[in-house]
Amino acid sequence: MCSKGKLTIGAHMSIAGGLIKTVENTAAMGADTMQIFSRNPRGSNFRTPSQDEVDRFQQLRRKYHLGPILAHAPYTMNLASPKPEVYEFACTVIREDVIRMDALGIENLVFHPGSHTGIGVEEGIRNIIAGLNQAITGEENITVLLETMSGKGTEIGERFEHLRAIREGVAFPEKIGVCLDTCHVFSAGYDIVGNLDQVLEEFDKVLGLELLRAVHLNDSMMPFASRKDRHAAVGEGEIGLEALLKVTTHPALKNLPFYLETPFDDAGHKEEIYMIRERRPEE
Ligand code: FE
Ligand code: FE
Ligand code: ZN
Repeated sequence: MCSKGKLTIGAHMSIAGGLIKTVENTAAMGADTMQIFSRNPRGSNFRTPSQDEVDRFQQLRRKYHLGPILAHAPYTMNLASPKPEVYEFACTVIREDVIRMDALGIENLVFHPGSHTGIGVEEGIRNIIAGLNQAITGEENITVLLETMSGKGTEIGERFEHLRAIREGVAFPEKIGVCLDTCHVFSAGYDIVGNLDQVLEEFDKVLGLELLRAVHLNDSMMPFASRKDRHAAVGEGEIGLEALLKVTTHPALKNLPFYLETPFDDAGHKEEIYMIRERRPEE
């Protein structure tokens, strides 16, 4: 028996070959979960799977014992935007994708809160709250996750307080969770290398650790507190292997699903997952 405890880990996967193929590819990588885009990453297109495909997807994910699956909303979606056409598009995408991903039985849908582009954090947060309120009915099973961001440009979400303000403002806060991105919090100035305990204590104080549903496990090409968002392979960035392995074994995090968004294809992610499982210290 392995004394390290079970680590649930996967990577961001392409859905170009369809959902079924994506689950097969995930299992072939030795992963036990996956992240997929909820639609074309630029946001315009999506394909509606047939009921037969949905059923086979459910069967297959059970067969391989996949952990919680994470859908990622398109990067182009800006729910904080003051521009009517940009905002309306974002509202449509989040509304449709909550319904679509919930219908697939996917557990969590993560999105980048958005960039206020000059109107200020408070106004931006007001837009995000209104956008979530027109998308979430309170009846769905899916949880919508706010991602911690690096704070590049006018990005909202680089402070835990931003995410709290969003969650506290919506009509159904119980449908909102958080996805912690290790690259983003590090570049936003939370010192997960020098003092992970303190960062998690602060998260607990501001948001509550029970809101954490997922971790994006990425190294950072950019230095600490740089407010720049460039992912590196695990162990090849400024965070480093040791600190990232500690993230995977920390008592507050170790039971969460981890998703790699590192610059690799499936073959590279397969090796990265193997390396992480091998090098993970005893608890
Ligand atoms: Fe993201
Ligand atoms: Fe991320
Ligand atoms: Zn990023």
